[in-house]
Amino acid sequence: MDKEPLSSNLLSSCLNMTCPQCRATRMFKKPGFFVYFKTFEMHANCGKCGLKFELEPGFWYGALWASYPLLIIIEFPFLLMSLFKSWGNYWSPLVIMAIVFIILWPTFIRLGRSIWVHAWVKFIPNGQV
Ligand SMILES: [Zn+2]
Repeated sequence: MDKEPLSSNLLSSCLNMTCPQCRATRMFKKPGFFVYFKTFEMHANCGKCGLKFELEPGFWYGALWASYPLLIIIEFPFLLMSLFKSWGNYWSPLVIMAIVFIILWPTFIRLGRSIWVHAWVKFIPNGQV
């Protein structure tokens, strides 16, 4: 049975964390952004097109280049609030920043990996490899 793509475009494929080549299967064994256990567990290969997600040894270290900007975008406003003491003190925004980080760290990691692999692998419609 031929699987239809789960995602119709690049943005939705990144957000759904589907195979960048065929967009028909999910990269992570447990889908979702808020997976706190077995966060890093991924399928080795795509179930449809056979793409090996880790393109080379150490490939996922590069995903930090995608997840770090996400972290900055989310956390930087709290840092500014802290610097300018917009809540009356400097530590309240820092506490909120830490709580946000604790809640969102799996999201940063998973989305970073998804963006990173999508940056290197071209989409091939119908999964013809
Ligand atoms: Zn695939």
